[in-house]
This record gives sequence, C-alpha cells and structure tokens, in this order.
Amino acid sequence: MGPDLRIGSGWDSHAFVPGRPLRLGGIDIAHPSGLAGHSDGDVLLHAVCDALLGAIAAGDIGSHFPSSDERFRGADSSTFVRHALQLVEAAGWEIVNLDATVILQSPRLGPYATRLRENVAALLSTSGSRVSIKAKTPEGLNLPETAMAQVVILLRYKQP
Ligand SMILES: [Zn+2]
Repeated sequence: MGPDLRIGSGWDSHAFVPGRPLRLGGIDIAHPSGLAGHSDGDVLLHAVCDALLGAIAAGDIGSHFPSSDERFRGADSSTFVRHALQLVEAAGWEIVNLDATVILQSPRLGPYATRLRENVAALLSTSGSRVSIKAKTPEGLNLPETAMAQVVILLRYKQP
C-alpha cells in the first residue's frame, strides 16, 4: 500500500490600487500600486492558505479569518499561512510539494523569483526544491488591474 496522500487547491484574486505597498509571497515588491484587501492583500499567500486548508477539508481562509474581523485589518498574511500549516501538521500531514501560478500584468516577478520561492518554502517549513512559483501575464483576459494566484499542494501522511 502506498502513502496516504491529500491534494488541495487554492485560488484568489485582488485588485491593484495606487499607493498601497505590494506584497506577494510574504515579500515586499517595488511597485507604484499594491493589492486591495482587508489584510495585506497577499494574493499568493491567500491561495496557499486555501490550498492547505482544502487539502485537510478544514474550510477556507474566510472561515478562519473573516474579513469582518477588525483584528485582521492590514494583517500580515504570513500569519494565516502559519495557522493553516499548524492545522495540517496537527492532523499528521506533511507537505510533499506546492505548485503555484501568479497571474498579473505587472510587475514582472522574474527578479524576485528566488526570494519568493525561498520565502514561501521557509513559511511552510519545507525546502525550496518542493516549492514552485510561476508567473504569467493574463493574456486575453483584459484584467490589467487584477492579480490572481492559483496553488496546488500535495500532502503526505507522516509515518507514525
Ligand atoms: Zn485574498
């Protein structure tokens, strides 16, 4: 019998607004506009969080961190990911790998690729070789002021 596996998927989108800091994957990115949202608007970490929660059927980011809750205004989305990871680990699972796609017109994420990957891997207490973060422009979608992120994550049950 093979290992017990779980897969989770996460998706999120946020609108760009001028004069807000841009944070993606927990790192600050130089850009004239940032992502709107109740928290820091980190579209990538929100999708990571939903993928983790989805893999263990533990609801979604909104059920754990409601946007109506003032405690989460401007929150660092890293705290959401840490919470979701704690739930995953407490249930006995570990990360096999994560594959993410960030879809946005600008900025180009190439210069940040290594830092993005390393930071997300560190947040998830896993190695960079298990984390893939790809960037695409939204061809044909006519969404130049929107950032989207899609994440798939695979979990493996730890040997007792
Ligand atoms: Zn979000």
